[in-house]
Amino acid sequence: MEITRREALAGGLVVTSLGLAGRGHAAGGELTVVSDGRLTLPEAMLTGGGDRAALDAAMAASGFDLDPLAPPCNLTLLRTDDRVVLFDAGAGPEFMATTGEVPYALKEAGVRLDEVTDVVMTHGHPDHLWGVLDDFGDPTFPEATIHMPATEMAYWTDPATVETIGELRQAFAVGAARRLAEMGDRVAVFADDGEPVPGVRALPTFGHTPGHVSYLLPDGAVVIGDAVANPHLAMRDPGGSHANDQDPERAARSRVDLLTRLASDGAAAVGFHLPGGLGTVARDGDAFLWRPA
Ligand SMILES: [Zn+2]
Repeated sequence: MEITRREALAGGLVVTSLGLAGRGHAAGGELTVVSDGRLTLPEAMLTGGGDRAALDAAMAASGFDLDPLAPPCNLTLLRTDDRVVLFDAGAGPEFMATTGEVPYALKEAGVRLDEVTDVVMTHGHPDHLWGVLDDFGDPTFPEATIHMPATEMAYWTDPATVETIGELRQAFAVGAARRLAEMGDRVAVFADDGEPVPGVRALPTFGHTPGHVSYLLPDGAVVIGDAVANPHLAMRDPGGSHANDQDPERAARSRVDLLTRLASDGAAAVGFHLPGGLGTVARDGDAFLWRPA
């Protein structure tokens, strides 16, 4: 079934050709943003238990009308001639009541779950990974290979991670290990800078998690994942230390490098938690601006 742009917008989806020549299956494929809902975050995840005033000031400066504790979850769907590739799996039914909508969003986009050939992971956090299993504990995408970058796979399957990750995220470690074990040989591990799917190049952006990666798509668009996770803090203070990153210093270096690249390329990008999902990045002195498409 061919979905029209009008139907897609009515379904809350953003469909774009992203600079591709014409509609349909151009060389780079067709990119769609599908929503998994919104997170409901504890304040400590953003403030580190500290200063709410700094967050409020950054919010006001950003100009976004967006509750920082209820960010959207935007998955990227890439359809090429022979593949249906989903970047991250969404949160699934067990994480939060406000997430887990991807199976319905895909249906609205005219994609059956058994048509998804590849699920390409940016990292192992619950809102990205837990959706590999459905409410019966079966694979949500029965025909798909789950592609995990090597460092990220090693981290979430290491039994020590539950002890080292910190109290706030202990459930993340248990949940990731269980799901990766359940998925067994459906999981394919690839080099951190490799090509999990032909034409899709991983860009290591470590720090948000130890092995987080972003992706460069065939047409030059970038799947950011959570390398730029919070539009209020990440754009205004890209080099700062943010509590939602597991290694804040490393994450800051990755974030500045990626934003610098995006601003200089002018490439379209999809940010998992950024307003509108799809947009571009521009420089603003030492800071950056997110411009939703
Ligand atoms: Zn994350």
